[in-house]
Formats: sequence, structure tokens, C-alpha cells
Amino acid sequence: MTPPSLELVHRTIKALFLSLAWTTFAALSATAKPTTELDLTSTFAEAALARSGQVLHDRTGTMDLEAVRKSDQWRLSSSDTVPGGYSHGVWWMRVRVTNRSGAPLQAILDLNSPLQDYVQLLQVDPGGHVVDQDEAGDHLPMSRWKMAGRTLKFLVALENDEGRDLYLRLASEDGLHVGVRPALRSLAEQSQHDQVDTLVHALYFGMLLALLLYNFVLFLSTRGDRALAYYVLHLLAFGTWAWTFRGYGFRYFWPESPGVNQHVLLACISLSAVAQALFAMHYLRVRRAAPRLYPVLVAVIAANALALLSPLLGGYAVPFFVACFGVLAGTVVTYLCAGYLVRKGSRPALIFFVSYAALALGVTMYLLRLLGVLTPNFMTEYGFEVGSALQMLILALGLADQMNTLREQKLEAERQAAAAQTALVNRLDALVKERTHELEQLNAKLGELSIKDELTGAYNKRHFTEVIRTELARHGRQGGVLSFCMFDVDFFKAYNDRYGHPAGDEVLRKVAATVSARLRRRDDRLFRLGGEEFGVLLSVDRPANTVAQYVDGLRQAIEDLAVIHEGSRFGKLTASFGLVILDSTSQGEPLDPDALYTLADRRLYEAKRNGRNRVEVQLA
Ligand code: GH3
Ligand code: MG
Ligand code: MG
Repeated sequence: MTPPSLELVHRTIKALFLSLAWTTFAALSATAKPTTELDLTSTFAEAALARSGQVLHDRTGTMDLEAVRKSDQWRLSSSDTVPGGYSHGVWWMRVRVTNRSGAPLQAILDLNSPLQDYVQLLQVDPGGHVVDQDEAGDHLPMSRWKMAGRTLKFLVALENDEGRDLYLRLASEDGLHVGVRPALRSLAEQSQHDQVDTLVHALYFGMLLALLLYNFVLFLSTRGDRALAYYVLHLLAFGTWAWTFRGYGFRYFWPESPGVNQHVLLACISLSAVAQALFAMHYLRVRRAAPRLYPVLVAVIAANALALLSPLLGGYAVPFFVACFGVLAGTVVTYLCAGYLVRKGSRPALIFFVSYAALALGVTMYLLRLLGVLTPNFMTEYGFEVGSALQMLILALGLADQMNTLREQKLEAERQAAAAQTALVNRLDALVKERTHELEQLNAKLGELSIKDELTGAYNKRHFTEVIRTELARHGRQGGVLSFCMFDVDFFKAYNDRYGHPAGDEVLRKVAATVSARLRRRDDRLFRLGGEEFGVLLSVDRPANTVAQYVDGLRQAIEDLAVIHEGSRFGKLTASFGLVILDSTSQGEPLDPDALYTLADRRLYEAKRNGRNRVEVQLA
């Protein structure tokens, strides 16, 4: 239930209830004494006047003091409240107070309410003469009240042993009576009462203001969370309503404009109902979670928004009942939504329910006190404040809880996204590494292929040109021994002719493999320079005097293959070698690759000419 609605709806119910009670009671207690007396002793602190005195309902509102004094319609009151409710008549209350304190005495008659339209206090001596007469009421500018304050108050001053009849006349402009609870207090008691009252309300409104500001800042920082916005609006409307309802608006903001109270109260009731329902709609996610109740809630919000215009209907009573009806409808629908969602296991709905249970409990205690069922104590006196403060706090906690949940969900989603991204990056990384490795291998293979001869696996002529250039340059810089030999298979044409080209290929492979197998040093390399002609570059760290012998070992190895070659003079496969040894100690111009090649080729030709299957050496 929305707080204003609770208060106001209950006031209406209470009025109906009290009217009924009153009618019943009136029939039973027609024989009441004409006055009831209240003796104020020196220890007097506080008395509930309605309970001590009598009440009369002037239904026409036309009776004057003389008429009511003589009336036999006075009844004893069943509670300490002068009945309120809807009536175009006037309520009277009277009590005889006598000062028995032994000294002059001042007391305060406090109506404990700021809202009755017109109040008159007539102090009448036992002879029936009016000795004092004051007026107040929220339809009179405060400058006309004798005692300005949050609630309607009057001063009662009595000489020692003086007795007076206090006649309280309560009238209403529109027929709405709030049901006041007049109390007579000693000055000390009143001061203490006012202190507690101020403290409680300072705490209460301070808390509402703190919640309002805090949630407003939160609203700004979340860049417009809707539930927060409506919560803040509700707090604002409800807080303004409570501020006015408790009399602070009139006391401090518009003391000379009595009509403002009604307008503020009416506007705040409907605005608070609208904000409240909108809050419930967003906080409980009614649209998604309870789609069938959603249109009903929307209709109720629209109705309450329309009720904001009800003051245009004129007067106060009609707009008041329109607003109350709107609030009641809103409350029922909101409760239905919340109840439905609690059953579906929604935590926000549960918090919503608990918060309203707190409010309902506080307000119920307050109302039961008004009805005279509960005795006065702090909770019954300020049940309304305690209940609504608890409600607002619990709702604020609920909002915080919801934001926490949302933030956790968001964080979790972010965590998952980050994890997925990392996994993806890792997979991509692995894939890239794998592909890179494959490419490197492929490149290495391609590199090999581009510098190697397909048939024999020896390095090709192109690579030979590159290598020999670098080696010559290095030899030029660092010195040492650079040995290069060329060899050519003897009578190879004849071999091909006799054994076929494929057999020739096979022989070339064998020769290359045999020579390769003997090249064990790091920089030893075999090249196929063309046809059946090969080149061997020997490592620089091989001693110069062993080179010739080593190359002859290569020649011998080919011969030792013992490949039958009937077209050869030797009866087997042989090769002729031309060897060039470049020693750094030897003088002369540095050689270029072509010159080195030519030198070796000449030695090879010489070997052929000198009978083949031999090594010719040149030191350069
Ligand atoms: P010499 O002792 O003077 O070197 O005589 P030769 O017959 O070996 O020399 P020649 O230059 O007359 O013949 C070389 C032959 O080598 C000619 C060619 O058919 C053959 N040949 C060149 N390349 C290949 C090859 O890749 N495979 C085969 N099976 N034969 C080749
Ligand atoms: Mg040959
Ligand atoms: Mg040849």
C-alpha cells in the first residue's frame, strides 16, 4: 500500500467505523452527566481530554454556545479522539477543569494535529460567562492563532481553585474532520513532548532527505536507472506529503496561505501513488515478469495521473475521495503484482513485500492507537513515521541489492567475454605458431630445393656461384687455405650409350653420394656444376699439405665403387680431378669466381689429357 493511501484510506475507514461506534454508543449512553470534571493537581502532567470529557455532534452546524450548553445530546466519549470523518456538521467537546494545585496554573490544550479546518476554544466560568475565547485551524492564517506551532494549541490559565468549562468547537469547510486527539498538558510536560516530537521528526525527515539525496546522486551516477528515478520521485512526493500532513509546511513555508495545505496534500497523494506504482513496475519488472498484470498497472497509473487534475472538480472532499480511490486501486494492483512475483520466487518482490509489511505494521499501530485499542507509547504515537522510515530504508536496500545483482551479472558477463577472448587469442596464437612453423619448414625446404640439384642432392651451379664468391672474399680478408677441385666422370657418354640414360643417372647419384659421404668437415661442400661434372669446396681448416692427398682419396673412392664400365679404358667407372689450392701465403692478385673456375677446369682438362682417373694440382 502506498503510505499516503494507508493513512488516508484508514482515516476514511476509521471515520466510518467511528461514526458507527458513535451511533451505537449514543443510543446506549443517553444518560451521561452534563459535564465531566478534571481536577488539575500540583502533580498534573497530561490528560486525554476527549476521554475525560463529553462529545456532541451538531449535525446542522448551527448551534451556538448557549444552545450546546443546554443540549441533552452530550455523550461520553469512548476513546480519546473526537470522532472525525465526513460530516457537514460541527463536533463539540467539553470538559470542566479545576485548578487544585494550590497555585495559579498554566496548561496547554494541544489537538496533536495540524489539520482541522476551524477550531475554537471557549473557556466558560461556572456562571456560564465566556472568560476566554481563541481560534485556530489550518483554514486560518497562522497570524490569527494565538499559539503558532506545528499543531493546533491553546493556552489555559487558571487561578488557584478556579474551575472552567472548556468548550472545543471543531468545524470543517468541506465536511472532512480529521479526528483530533486533544490533550491537556502542563507547561513542562508540553515542552518535553515538543522536544521528543521535534527530535523524532528531525530524525525522520532528515532520514528521508538523506535517502532522497543519496538516491538522487545514485540516479545521476547510474545515468538514469528508472527504478531509482521513481523511488526518488516517490520519496519527494511522499516526504512533502508527510511534511505537510504533520503541519510543518503550514508552520514554516506558507503560514499565511491556509489553502495551500490542501493542494499540496492532494497533489502529493496522487503524485506519490503514480511514482510508487511506476517504481513497482520497474523495480519488479512487471512488464516481463507479470505481463497480464502489466496493463492493469498501467491503467491504474494513468488513473492516478488523471487524479492529479481532480482539484479542478472544486472543493476538497471530492478530489480527496477521488485521490483516495486512485491510491486504493494502485495499492491493490501493486500488491497483486508483488504477491504474484513473490510466489514465483522473486527476491525484489519479497523485499518489496517486507518493506510494506513494515509500513503496514507501523501505520496499524498508529491507527489502533487513534481508535483507542492500543495505549499510547512511542510506537503507537510515531508508528506512522517508524513504519514509513523502515519501508523507505528497506526499499533503498532492495534497490542497492538489485544494483549489486546487476553489477555482478555484468562483471560475470565481462569475465566470460574476457575468458572467451583469451581462449580465442590463445587458439589463434597457437594456430599462427603452427602455421608459421609449417611455413618456416616449407621455406627451408624451398630454400634447400632452390640451391640443390634434384638428381644428386648436391648443391647446384647457382649456389656454387654465390658460395664461391663469399668464400673467396673471406679468404681475401682472413687468409688461410681455400681449396677447390672439379671432377668429371670419364667416358660417361660411352656409359650412357652402353647402359642407358637411367643407368647413367644412377651412376651420377652414386658418385655424388660417395663423395658427399667423405666430406666430413663443416665447410666441405659438393656442387654439381653440369652434366657429369662436379665441384668440391674444401674447408679452410684442412692443412694445405694434406689437400692433394685427400682429393686423391675422393678419386680412389669413385674408382673403388667398382662400377663396371666396359666402354672405359679402365673397365670400370672413374673420374678425373683438377685441384686448385689457394694459400694465403702465396702472393698474387685475389681471384674472382670465374678465374678460380677456369683454373680448376684447366687442371681437369689436363688430367683428362694426361690419361684420366687422376688428380692434377695447382697451387695459386
Ligand atoms: P670424357 O672422358 O672426355 O669426359 O668423355 P665423356 O664421354 O665423359 O664426355 P662428353 O662430354 O663427350 O660426354 C658427356 C656425356 O654426359 C654427354 C651426356 O649425354 C652425358 N650426360 C650429361 N648429363 C647427364 C645426365 O644428367 N644423365 C645422364 N645419364 N647422362 C648425362
Ligand atoms: Mg666426362
Ligand atoms: Mg663432361
